[in-house]
Amino acid sequence: MLQVQLFTLYPEVFPGPLNKGIYGKALAKNLWSLNVINIRDAAKDKHKTVDDTPYGGGSGMLLKPDVLASSIDKNIKKGERIFYLSPKGKKFNQNIAQDLSKVNSFSLICGHFEGVDERILSTRNIEEISIGDYVLSGGETAALVILDSVLRLLPGVLGNEKSASDETFENGLLEYPQYTKPQIWEEKLVPKVLLSGDHSKIKDWRLSQSEAITRDRRPDLWQKYKKK
Ligand code: SAH
Repeated sequence: MLQVQLFTLYPEVFPGPLNKGIYGKALAKNLWSLNVINIRDAAKDKHKTVDDTPYGGGSGMLLKPDVLASSIDKNIKKGERIFYLSPKGKKFNQNIAQDLSKVNSFSLICGHFEGVDERILSTRNIEEISIGDYVLSGGETAALVILDSVLRLLPGVLGNEKSASDETFENGLLEYPQYTKPQIWEEKLVPKVLLSGDHSKIKDWRLSQSEAITRDRRPDLWQKYKKK
């Protein structure tokens, strides 16, 4: 079972959408578990202070390293990977989602305000991870994105295990177009090959569609795919 630990100032946000649909069922079946830790619980003064102003000046507040460290040290499992959600981090992708779906546990730290005191990252061996080139106001939504993509890869979470392996990014290509009933809709037909029942022809068609779409929309992925 995958155990996820999540450090946040807003514990009430979780599990949120992760308690719905396939994830809710997976939680109930103990296919994964979520331990939500309120960083503020580790604050020592009577006002429960978690942040302070940056040395050198500038706007905003930073999460204090002593509070964060005390929260992490109390809750972290030995040897597990700890990620700080950060726009400066390594960009998250399907390969990282695959890796994380295979471990027993990992931790996610949601930042807020201007971020965290830099020293916490090196002293606690924390990896910075970004969900894309834009700035959010807090790490919570980013954590939900990462968990969504990891959880659906866990065995038993999706009804049809094969459906995850066919998808966009899984083979380095974007997914081919798909169609369902009705066969003719607003005068538009479903591609004939899909009605042929010829599975090897369908497979070839899907691959060629995937390749064409990837070449057209994502030259970066296409270059990598061609090298393979
Ligand atoms: N001052 C920081 C931004 C802080 S944004 C900087 O310029 O780098 C506040 C919090 O939102 C961060 O601590 C982080 O946890 C989260 N966050 C913002 N953008 C993110 C992104 N693209 N990916 C993951 N987390 C992000």
